[in-house]
Amino acid sequence: MEEIVVKNNTVAKVHYTGTLPDSGEVFDSSEGRDPLTFLVGHGMMIPGFERELMGAKVGERRTFTLPPEEAYGQPNDDAIMDIPREQFAMIEEQAELEEGMQLITQLPHGPAPFTIKKLNKDTVTADFNHKLAGESLTFSVEVVEIREAEESEISHGHAHGPGGVEH
Ligand code: ZN
Repeated sequence: MEEIVVKNNTVAKVHYTGTLPDSGEVFDSSEGRDPLTFLVGHGMMIPGFERELMGAKVGERRTFTLPPEEAYGQPNDDAIMDIPREQFAMIEEQAELEEGMQLITQLPHGPAPFTIKKLNKDTVTADFNHKLAGESLTFSVEVVEIREAEESEISHGHAHGPGGVEH
């Protein structure tokens, strides 16, 4: 029997720690949490992350650094926009808006997080770029489990069961 490795249409469970290569700052980690579970080859992860794990076996640890293009991309000016300040009235009743504050709005395709870039008298300049856009990212990843995906997972485009979508 062939040993299973990370490849398209497998479900992988991994522990990971993501750091910024220049400062060593940890921006995300699964340490102390359940491992991250994902269906491989369906665009669930940033592109370079899956590519670097291809062929890895259970128990294998890989460390790699991705340029912004293979992580969250470069910041895009089109993702910065002015929103009428009156739309923030409900929030402003409860809290003072501050530059650098992170909020989430509901758009037709789902929740969209943004950062307040600038507070103006009548508008709020909102930056919808991912907060890690423009950054190179280093990941240290340990493969905990790999299994073949089920037909229903492949057709839904996500993993089912613990760590995946429950439905
Ligand atoms: Zn599903």
